[in-house]
Amino acid sequence: MALFSFLGAIQQVTGSCYLIETHAGARVLLECGMQQGRRKDEAGNRANFPFDPQTLDAVVLSHAHIDHSGLLPRLTAAGFKGPVHVTTATGELLELMLLDSANLQEKDTEWENRWRARLGKPPITPLYTVADTERMLKQRRPHDYGEPFEAAPGVQVTFHDAGHILGSAIVQLDVEDFGRTRRLVFSGDLGNSCSPLMHAPTVLQQADVVLMESTYGNRDHR
Ligand SMILES: [Zn+2]
Repeated sequence: MALFSFLGAIQQVTGSCYLIETHAGARVLLECGMQQGRRKDEAGNRANFPFDPQTLDAVVLSHAHIDHSGLLPRLTAAGFKGPVHVTTATGELLELMLLDSANLQEKDTEWENRWRARLGKPPITPLYTVADTERMLKQRRPHDYGEPFEAAPGVQVTFHDAGHILGSAIVQLDVEDFGRTRRLVFSGDLGNSCSPLMHAPTVLQQADVVLMESTYGNRDHR
């Protein structure tokens, strides 16, 4: 079976990030989320990625929420040049959300640097900039629901409607390794309030491995 590394979501609710590696050498990153919340958690966003971004074949994204997508501009700034596979609607939403996030990063940094200057401390740089984000947005590759595509050699991906936000997807990965294909299904965030499993449970039933993220229920998360 392909190696499945949990880089983000194990320790905190936000900041989803999973690395899928096959023995043949394919490397696909599933989600690239930003940690949100306490200042201590947010400091984690500045840590180096626990893998070399330049060695990734592709990124696959289940939906546009910042806790799943927010570090993408940082990933490309760190050298990732491959495609970012999204649904068509997620691709559009991503532009709004990440540019907004980048604007916030720049403004927060500007404000903080004013204080730092008064205290004689050296300035800090934003987590990422609008320019980083615009570069990243060029790497988007939109796909329709139900249309399989190859994210990397031996890694076929199909998006299914997750009913969470506009464009959100359950991500089906058919991973070929050692001559066998196994189906891994990533739930992303499912549903929005009352019926979290309303959409596409058949996808989940056909999987060899199901990775479920806790549903947020009525809780609001950006
Ligand atoms: Zn979400």
